[in-house]
Amino acid sequence: MKESGRKQGAASPCAACKLLRRRCAQDCVFAPYFPADEPQKFANVHRVFGASNVNKMLQELPVHQRGDAVSSMVYEANARVRDPVYGCVGAISLLQQQIDTLQTQLALAQAEVVHLQVRQTASFSHHGFGPASPSNSGSPSSKLMRSQDKTTFDVDMMVNQDKKRGGSDSGGAVATVMVVRVT
Ligand SMILES: [Zn+2]
Repeated sequence: MKESGRKQGAASPCAACKLLRRRCAQDCVFAPYFPADEPQKFANVHRVFGASNVNKMLQELPVHQRGDAVSSMVYEANARVRDPVYGCVGAISLLQQQIDTLQTQLALAQAEVVHLQVRQTASFSHHGFGPASPSNSGSPSSKLMRSQDKTTFDVDMMVNQDKKRGGSDSGGAVATVMVVRVT
């Protein structure tokens, strides 16, 4: 997108100068980033931030950072136009919710795996197929377990979804507590 607004020369104003109905100077700060063929790009930025603020922000930045700043402003402005109340925070919190949901599903799946492993181990030890598991073979607790006629495993799982506190920070982490109880 660099310099594409200047290809036609000063005769054709950039999208910003066209919208602001002013002459597009040779050193126009908007011209490299708001080409005439993308009028909507500047329209939304102007609507949300105001042309003079955008001008000020670009002037304060070194030239190599202006492109990124414009991308950021265009993204934020478009998000604000789409969602006037939350803007890009709406998109962020939607994605955060998806992360929370997927982390909960992952925790449930992992708990199910543990549950099935424990059940499999229990059925092997009931039928006397070797040690119950490599980790507890020979340990006092495994001897105790095998000496019992009936060994039951309870897998208690509590998925504690820590709700967001105070906005869209990283407080939406999922804390999963899993208790494997041998009775
Ligand atoms: Zn211009």
